[in-house]
Amino acid sequence: MLARTLAIGDELLLGRTVDTNSAHIARWLTDRGLRVDRAAVVGDAQADIEAALRAATAGADLVIVTGGLGPTDDDRTRQALAAVLGVALAERPAAWAEIQAWYQRNRPTRPIPEVNRRQAQLPVGATLLANDRGTAPGMLVRVGQARVVCLPGVPHEMHAMLDALQPRLGEWFPGMAPPAIAEVWLAGIGESAAQELIGDLLSERDPQVGITVSELGHLTLRVVGAAPAVKARTAALRKALKAHLIPAAGPAPSLVALLARRGQTIAVAESCTCGHVAAQLGAAPGASAVLREALVAYHERVKTARLGVPAALIRRHGVVSEPVAAAMAQGMRRLARADLAVATTGVAGPAGGSAAVPVGTVCIAIADRRGVVVRTTRIAGTRQRVQHRAAAQALVWALEVALGRIETARSDQVVTTSARKAR
Ligand code: ATP
Repeated sequence: MLARTLAIGDELLLGRTVDTNSAHIARWLTDRGLRVDRAAVVGDAQADIEAALRAATAGADLVIVTGGLGPTDDDRTRQALAAVLGVALAERPAAWAEIQAWYQRNRPTRPIPEVNRRQAQLPVGATLLANDRGTAPGMLVRVGQARVVCLPGVPHEMHAMLDALQPRLGEWFPGMAPPAIAEVWLAGIGESAAQELIGDLLSERDPQVGITVSELGHLTLRVVGAAPAVKARTAALRKALKAHLIPAAGPAPSLVALLARRGQTIAVAESCTCGHVAAQLGAAPGASAVLREALVAYHERVKTARLGVPAALIRRHGVVSEPVAAAMAQGMRRLARADLAVATTGVAGPAGGSAAVPVGTVCIAIADRRGVVVRTTRIAGTRQRVQHRAAAQALVWALEVALGRIETARSDQVVTTSARKAR
């Protein structure tokens, strides 16, 4: 079954709003066994919407349209759809009753703006789709063989209305079975290296295997197809990639799951990443069982006073240095009485770099009960990117330490990056 999405709105073409609706709908449809072959975006001009509707419906079984159902003059999806169908727009009493009920529930003291009455206008013959979360009702029509579903642009309204379509899918497309879907997550390996390990296990169909790189520092392999093929391919992928598998979708949820299973805890001391490491851990379900404490140790004096980093160490090596990162991680581990501690110190930019320590340099240390490991990474891009990527890298290394894939050493035996290079 072939499906298409059509997102309507000038703000999407201007780049002011990112079209997350089409991505959400495409995921929703493909998870249920439809094939999406086109995602179009069009502005608010009625003639453009009409042309896009004609193009999208030609040859498709299902077209999901979002946006342009609001009450203002630039919302013209209703008119465009009526024109494509060659029918008039007429006020639907049930739609107007719903809009009034929404106002009564949510804005009881306010009169209903007359302009909202436009939202009750539907092409003659269209099926009304209820919207519990807003004033724009959706609608369902048929253009040729294609079923066209128009939903509001506001994402949380659209999500609920899309889910409400679920029972209709079975009626419309009897016999359509959702594919089996499995995911395999990896960290500590790049896309190219992963490709070399899996060879021809990446395939376009039967099953379809795709690889996605996440900004959070991990890779996801998604296997989609018939259940036996998905099972066999997933097992083959897991075998080939055994040394790099992680237990959940990202380093932070993996760390939280792993530490929770072991009854262990983690603490974080962040300088340049300014809370991003802690935020990612805190976003993972179950974090309360493992995240003991996080400290943004930005100022040098906080590093010395709170984490016990010797001032002489900072003077000798500079605040962005591997010995300082290592001392921060060990200090944090002691302070929080945690099993594992992560520390970051770096130059996020755009100013503050030097020839020896350029912008984007970040030293990351992980301490556990055996000792500490410290590494330096160099990240290109904006301050925000440096902070995000450094936090993601810190979590990947922390996870690899927790999994025993990176070994820590006693602090007097720590091998720094410069020493490793000199070898
Ligand atoms: P509605 O049909 O609900 O009136 P609309 O097209 O009139 O939708 P707007 O008023 O332009 O919607 O936008 C409503 C909100 O929905 C805005 O916050 C906008 O950013 C968001 N939005 C609209 N379309 C999309 C989209 N394709 N992806 C993500 N957000 C969207």
